Amino acid sequence: MNKAKILLAGKIAAQVRDYIKPLIKKDVPLLEIAKKIETKIIELSGKPAFPVSLAIDEIAAHSTPSHDDETKAHGLLKIDMGVSVDGWLADTAFSIDLENSEENKKLIEASEQALENAIKITKKGITTSEIGGSIQETINSHGFSPIINLSGHEIKQHELHAGVTIPNFDDKKDIKIKTGVYAIEPFATTGNGKVRDGKQSGIYMLIEHKNVRSPIAREVLHFIIEEYQTLPFCSRWLVKKFGTKALFGLKQLEANGNLHHFEQLIESSGAKVSQAEHTILIDDDGEIIVTTR
Ligand code: MN
Ligand code: MN
Repeated sequence: MNKAKILLAGKIAAQVRDYIKPLIKKDVPLLEIAKKIETKIIELSGKPAFPVSLAIDEIAAHSTPSHDDETKAHGLLKIDMGVSVDGWLADTAFSIDLENSEENKKLIEASEQALENAIKITKKGITTSEIGGSIQETINSHGFSPIINLSGHEIKQHELHAGVTIPNFDDKKDIKIKTGVYAIEPFATTGNGKVRDGKQSGIYMLIEHKNVRSPIAREVLHFIIEEYQTLPFCSRWLVKKFGTKALFGLKQLEANGNLHHFEQLIESSGAKVSQAEHTILIDDDGEIIVTTR
């Protein structure tokens, strides 16, 4: 692994998080927040590893503004961002309460505390179910439930969700943590603790290079292969590059089987969700929280 590049990706993510936090206020357009985050990542010499996710209330993940989005920030907002430095990735998330709600604040506290406790015990040799058990216990002790069908993950170069899964509950699997890079991401909810698929998110990933007939689809496909490879991207980025005709290209590429289109992930009982996430690097020298300053 390229430790220097992973640490740099993490530093950039931490800087962008600190930069954007005070700028997120009720009624600021999500489109403006997304653009500011992604522009800042590029200014600091990284690339967005995936479209920034801005998920409100019961939407847990996979939510990014479309090119003409008019949604304004409100409720319990989760900001999830990733930075790539030559394909070496860092992934971090935090939540903000924009309606001065005691319940939101408690939910945020629960996921942050669960992350902190999980990080404390994460090292070579511990099992993923022990980490998951710690997350579950912390969130339960706050009176909430973890979301059990969302999880943390190992990260490899050009691969955001690689290999090992870090559950948000004790899944009784005896998988030992080895040296590598891992994202830990507890989600806490007042609901029943599961997400279901919602509407299409406008977030895609390349799955097949195969030929497509229409010229615009072909043009968009070549750009995706060049620019994003196996990392997720969104319709908003392609509209910026090609104009709205990119949307036709994307539709054709999806129908032709070139792309996977992610659905939004929604808490199945419609309850609010908070999230906290850091990326951790484990090598023979020990553990480093990559996504802090
Ligand atoms: Mn993330
Ligand atoms: Mn993640």
